[in-house]
Amino acid sequence: MYTKANKINGLTPITSEWMEEVMRDKSLIEQLISKYGSPVNLHHLPTFSSNIERFRELFAQYGLRHQIYYARKANKSKALVQKALQSGIGVDTASFRELEQSLALGGTGETLVLTSAIKTKEQYALAIKEQVPIILDNVDECELANTVAVELGKVAIVGFRVSGFKVEDKKLYSRFGFDIELLKQFILENLGAEGTYKNLNIAGLHFHLDGYSTHQRGKALSDCISMLSELNEAGFNLDFIDIGGGILINYLEDEQEWSNFDKQLRVQVASGEGNLTFNQNGLGYELINGNVERSLKTYPYYNNVNGVDFLKQVLEYKESAESSPNFSRLQKNNIEIRIEPGRSLLNQIGMTIAKVAHRKQDAKGQWLVGLEMNMSQMMSSSADFLLDPYLIYEDDFSEESAVDVFFTGAYCLERDVLLKRKITLPQLPKIGDLVAFVNTAGYMMHFFETEAHLFELSTNLSFNNSEKLTVVDFVNDDML
Ligand SMILES: *Cc1c(COP(=O)(O)O)cnc(C)c1O
Repeated sequence: MYTKANKINGLTPITSEWMEEVMRDKSLIEQLISKYGSPVNLHHLPTFSSNIERFRELFAQYGLRHQIYYARKANKSKALVQKALQSGIGVDTASFRELEQSLALGGTGETLVLTSAIKTKEQYALAIKEQVPIILDNVDECELANTVAVELGKVAIVGFRVSGFKVEDKKLYSRFGFDIELLKQFILENLGAEGTYKNLNIAGLHFHLDGYSTHQRGKALSDCISMLSELNEAGFNLDFIDIGGGILINYLEDEQEWSNFDKQLRVQVASGEGNLTFNQNGLGYELINGNVERSLKTYPYYNNVNGVDFLKQVLEYKESAESSPNFSRLQKNNIEIRIEPGRSLLNQIGMTIAKVAHRKQDAKGQWLVGLEMNMSQMMSSSADFLLDPYLIYEDDFSEESAVDVFFTGAYCLERDVLLKRKITLPQLPKIGDLVAFVNTAGYMMHFFETEAHLFELSTNLSFNNSEKLTVVDFVNDDML
C-alpha cells in the first residue's frame, strides 16, 4: 500500500496516472531495484510526447514557423533524446559529449543546436562538420569558430547570444552573451562578405534569461525582432530567434499549501523554534537584526502561469498599447521562433524510487530513515526539493502511529539529508519499504550526481504504456 506523506501541512505534488500505477505495484518496483539497484529513475515516454505536442499546438495556433529544441542538459537519458528526435523536434546540446551522443542518436545539423557555455576546438570542429548551428557568446568564440571553419574549408552556421536587455529602464545583467547595445554594430562590421569572419554564416539571434519573468522575455524577444529586421534591411539574411528555456512549470496541487509553507518557514526563522526543517535550515531566509530577510532559495514550486500559458505571455507581449504583439511581428517578418525548454518538457515524466535501509533515533529523539541513495541523486541547484514524497509499505498501515522523520543518504557527510523538510509518515517504514519522489526528471534526479564513495550512478529506465507493466517493459538507458 502506498500513501503520500504529510497528510496535513503538505506540499502535495501533481502526479500522473502512470506514477500511481507504478506505486500501486510494490513487487514491480522491488524487481526493478533488485535488478538495477537503488535508487532507480523512471521515465515515462508518452508523457514526454504529449508535453512536446502541447508546445507545438501553441505555435500552430499562432501560425508561427517554429522549432523546439529539448535542452538535454536537464536530464542525461538517451531515451529522451531519441524520443525528441523521433517526434520531429530538435535537441539543444551544451557539451562535446552531449553533441556527439545526440548525433549518434540520429541528430543532424537540421535538428541540433550547440549552446555550450564553454566551447572547445573539438566542439567547433564537430559542429561545423555536421553543420550544427553554434550559438556564439563572445568575440573569442567568433575568432575560434571562424578559424576552425577555415581549417575545415567550411562555413559555420552561427547564431549570436544577446544579453543586456533593458526592461523598465533597468539593464538585465548576465555573464552570457553580447551586449545588445553593441551587437548590431559588431555584426555589421565583422560579418558578411566584407567582414573579418568570412566563414561564419549568421542565421539568427538567441537569448536565454535567468529567472522566470515573461515580461522580461517578451521585451527581449521584441528587441531581437527589431534588431533582426534592421540587420536584414542592411543586407543580412537572418532567419530565427531562439528564446531559450526557463518556461515555468507547476509542481503543486494547491497554492494555499505553498503559501502556508512559506509562512511557517518565516515563523520558524523569526522565532528560532520549531522543526519544520532539518536543524532549522531557513532554505535561504535568514534572521538579520531581528528581521527575517533574504528569500526562499528554491525553485518556485507553485506557478499559476506555466507551460504554454507562460509562452503565450511572451508571444503576446507588446511594447505599448499601440504596438503589435511579438507573435504578429514574427509572422509579418516570417521569422522562425525557437525555444529550448528543458524542465518544462520534462514535467511529469520522471520518478525516483529508493529502498529504506535503516531507521534510527538521533540524540534529539528525531527519527532518521536511511535510504539506499545519496544526496547527489536528488540534488537541486537550489536549497531543497519541496514536494511531499510517497511511502510504499509492504504491509497495511494505520494512521494512528504517525511519525516525523528525515530521510538520510549514503554519503559520510552530516549534510546528506535528502529532503531538508521534516516529513510526517502515517507510520515508521520497515527495512525494504520504498520511498518515491515524483516529478524528478528535470534536473533533480541526476544533474549533480557523483560517484563519491565509488557508488555506482543510478540507473535510468524508460518505458511506454502497457496493459500490465512488468520488468521487461523498462529499458535501461545504458543499453541504448
Ligand atoms: C539551461 C538552458 C536551457 C534550458 O532551461 P530550462 O529552464 O530547463 O528550460 C535552454 N537554453 C540554454 C542556453 C540553457 O542554458
